Amino acid sequence: MKPVIPFVPEADSVERETWEEELRKNLASFAEVKPFDQLTDDERVAAKVAIVANPNPADVAALPNLVWVQSLWAGVERLTAELPEDGPLIVRLQDPQMADTMSEAVLAWTLYLHRDMPRYRLQQREKVWRELLLKTPQERTVGVLGLGKLGSASAQRLKANGFRVIGWSRSEKHLDGVECFHGSDGLTNLLGQTDILVLLVPLTAETRGMIGEKAVGDLKKGAALINFARGPVLDIDALLSGLDNGHLSHAVLDVFDKEPLDAASPLWQHDKVTVLPHISAPTITGTATNIVARNIGDYLKNGQIPQHVDRKRGY
Ligand code: NAP
Repeated sequence: MKPVIPFVPEADSVERETWEEELRKNLASFAEVKPFDQLTDDERVAAKVAIVANPNPADVAALPNLVWVQSLWAGVERLTAELPEDGPLIVRLQDPQMADTMSEAVLAWTLYLHRDMPRYRLQQREKVWRELLLKTPQERTVGVLGLGKLGSASAQRLKANGFRVIGWSRSEKHLDGVECFHGSDGLTNLLGQTDILVLLVPLTAETRGMIGEKAVGDLKKGAALINFARGPVLDIDALLSGLDNGHLSHAVLDVFDKEPLDAASPLWQHDKVTVLPHISAPTITGTATNIVARNIGDYLKNGQIPQHVDRKRGY
């Protein structure tokens, strides 16, 4: 008999059926994927690995012998916050397709800022015919915060497009053609040179509120920023005051403290803010389920658990 792999999705997820179908199909030759609410008591006790997508922690706790969980998302801050430290190991989704999609989004929105599209949009609204000074990509420094899977792919793509790229990570890093910084002095140094700041750090205890009043003030005058990481990495009050006092030129925001963004939020109407509905790098069902199937297949065959989250670091 094939082992049963529980699937524990977010309550009320609209994509649940699509995921269920794809996972079932991809794992069918060696396992049976079963939604959490259809498991028998024996199946709950027997489960060593489960596939999760923003699950209710009580559902995960009801699988007492789990060794690890495979998340369908790349960001796992909810899992690290909600699952006990001595609970199952957390494996986040690491999909090369996602790095490609994210680097495309970073390039697209960097070009949007680089070619002054927000200002041309405002000029059109006011029927203003005015040519703005054009800079070359070489004259524009893009600072990428977080040089992991997504940040390093984005840095390379920006570099290939001619931008000067600098980056920052927790530990020391070397990336071809990218000046890399780390540590708090490194951050101040990077911010002071940055025209366009791209946030791609995970949300952890250390990165929460990392871009606050001081960091905004440390940015080069006229800088713009793109938040493709998680909402709470950026302090919205500090951002708004930086935009309103003219220190910052524009912000492209894809992620928010609470999603969907509240209708009452001043961000919706702000001339210097572009609001996106968390679309920079969605999980792609096809490639993601292939990766999940391979990870779980390897584990069932030889007990190999993929690289997992370091609970002390938080990512
Ligand atoms: P990753 O491979 O784990 O890389 C994280 C990077 O951030 C690493 O370079 C790490 O430094 C750095 N970092 C972590 N904590 C730091 C700190 N305190 N100070 C400085 N640098 C720090 O993660 P990833 O796959 O690139 O994904 C990054 C994040 O993107 C995810 O966690 C998720 O929140 C977000 N995301 C957003 C979307 C979207 O659609 N908007 C989609 C997917 C993912 P080290 O290199 O030293 O470890």
